[in-house]
Amino acid sequence: MYPVLKHLKEPFQYAKPLDGKEAKAKDQMAGGPARSKPRAKNMSGTLKQMWNYLIEYKGKLAAVIIMVLLSSAFSLLGPYLAGTAIDHFLINRDSGFIVFLIGMAIVYVFHSVTMWLQSIWMITISQKTVYRMRVQLFEHLHRLPIPYFSKRQHGELMSRVTNDIENVSASLNSSVIQVFSSMLLLVGTVSVMLSLSPLLTLLTFLVVPIMVLGMKWITKQTGRLFKAQQRNLGDLNGYIEETLSGQRIVKAFSQEQTVIAAFKERNERIRVSGFWAQTISGFIPKLMNALNNLSFAIIAGIGAIFVLNDQITVGTIIIFAEYSRQFTRPLNDLANQWNTLLSAVAGAERVFDVLGEDEERSDEGSAIELGEVKGSVIFDQVTFAYEGRASTINDVSFELTPGETVALVGPTGAGKTTLIQLLCRFYDPSSGSILIDGHDSRMIKRENLRSHMAFVLQDPFLFEGTINENIRYGKLDATDAEVEEAAKLANAHSFITRLKSSYNTVLKPDGSGISQGQKQLLAIARAILANPSILVLDEATSSIDTVTEIKIQEALQRLMQGRTSFVIAHRLNTIQQADQIVVLQDGAIIEKGSHSQLLAHQGFYSSLVNGQLRNGMLNETS
Ligand code: ADP
Repeated sequence: MYPVLKHLKEPFQYAKPLDGKEAKAKDQMAGGPARSKPRAKNMSGTLKQMWNYLIEYKGKLAAVIIMVLLSSAFSLLGPYLAGTAIDHFLINRDSGFIVFLIGMAIVYVFHSVTMWLQSIWMITISQKTVYRMRVQLFEHLHRLPIPYFSKRQHGELMSRVTNDIENVSASLNSSVIQVFSSMLLLVGTVSVMLSLSPLLTLLTFLVVPIMVLGMKWITKQTGRLFKAQQRNLGDLNGYIEETLSGQRIVKAFSQEQTVIAAFKERNERIRVSGFWAQTISGFIPKLMNALNNLSFAIIAGIGAIFVLNDQITVGTIIIFAEYSRQFTRPLNDLANQWNTLLSAVAGAERVFDVLGEDEERSDEGSAIELGEVKGSVIFDQVTFAYEGRASTINDVSFELTPGETVALVGPTGAGKTTLIQLLCRFYDPSSGSILIDGHDSRMIKRENLRSHMAFVLQDPFLFEGTINENIRYGKLDATDAEVEEAAKLANAHSFITRLKSSYNTVLKPDGSGISQGQKQLLAIARAILANPSILVLDEATSSIDTVTEIKIQEALQRLMQGRTSFVIAHRLNTIQQADQIVVLQDGAIIEKGSHSQLLAHQGFYSSLVNGQLRNGMLNETS
């Protein structure tokens, strides 16, 4: 794909600020504050997808499972050896207890080693998994069709690549093992306790119902709250990104206070959900601790009576006390890790949601590649509607022979941008067709089609890099000499050489540091280097100083020479020079012809020109 196109969406969007209603609708679609419909939660489906990732590392995974089994066995063995050692010391009064003490030391060393190994191996698996997920997600995002992005905030998507994947990573690193080993320990501990003293085991279990009910309530609350927190965070990220990248518009419309107020509102939502999520989940260890102590008191009290009656030994009470602690700890861990796991599953689900989106429809099998394009373009009865909207373009027909220029004129919302998006196949017509050199554009491979086009937009996209690299974006294998030649033709060479580092001057991501007019000149140089057959020009509405303006006009004349050009025109001068003027209103052509023909026609165009000429600029918002 012609690289500039990857970023086309922004200029299209920023070309006109959203009005309140549109912004709200966009917000809703992006899952912003007004989103009330919770996304269908498919826990088992998500886990299955996760499993497909993990199974790639089955060898390591098996090793982790073995280590978890061993470490659980060692942690069951430890207290047993301690109790037996005590009985040897107190009852048998022989030196046998030393053997058990040494055994205990060995068991605890092995326990640590197995814990360490399982953790290291699991971290390896998790990092490799999230690495793959990140790559897949990023690649997929770049293959999604433009309509997908126009419905979502950038920040919200960014949050999926960063926050959500990070959650998955954190959870895979530790929670998965913890949940697994906690379950094992739980089963193991209860079995050993039952075999030692069923009665004491039952007494220990008295606290279980309180524990289970308490935890159930807490996890239910926190699960909901963590999800809300994550959603609010995604929303805030989206908002920050949007307002920062649209900062000029915010300032230009003096919307700073509104933006700050809306930010505070979102920030407040995070504070509230974060406060409750943390507070309630922080309650878990305290509840567990209290119940632990209660269970210990029961065992110590009742156990003492049993010892006095010679029903059990002191060693058994020690084993019990230790096991009852071991029994509540996995419950505790389960409750803690369950939340992390839930938020990771929610994160993974959001990632899989994006991965499950259909990519830009691949080209038809029979799609062709055009080697050379002369530049004849025919819009033949083109009709188009955005998803869920009434038709935006109605039966539009016009023809351009190679090298001709068409000026698209009409009020905001008339459908000029949409026509361009149809031309470069961000969308395809619902009926009718667009013919390029006689070929239906749907039958031309998208990448090939776009490689024959270049764009010079109102607010040209410049990325962080040198001027040289920014111009070379038009043709990646261009030599320095070619870049300079293009800059000369674009009237950009003289201002570039006046800069301290000339072509090696590094531009900031927002292009600040050079003027709006100079940005335009760079965009023209980039387009000249790309040498397309079809040119799209979205004329700047902002006023640029007269000298630069003349340079831009001159450079544009050179650029448009011999190329078929679509100009979303605002300047009367440009419009007058166009071979054809297409006047659009509500998605339909209301007038079509040359400047003089349309003036003679005395219709919409002539009233526009006569009534609304301001500084040579046609006021298109009327
Ligand atoms: P112009 O460029 O002439 O100002 P557009 O082509 O941008 O007009 O818009 C034409 C109509 O299509 C407008 O009513 C606009 O709200 C609608 N529109 C533009 N983009 C989208 C979109 N991505 N989804 C839905 N409707 C859209």
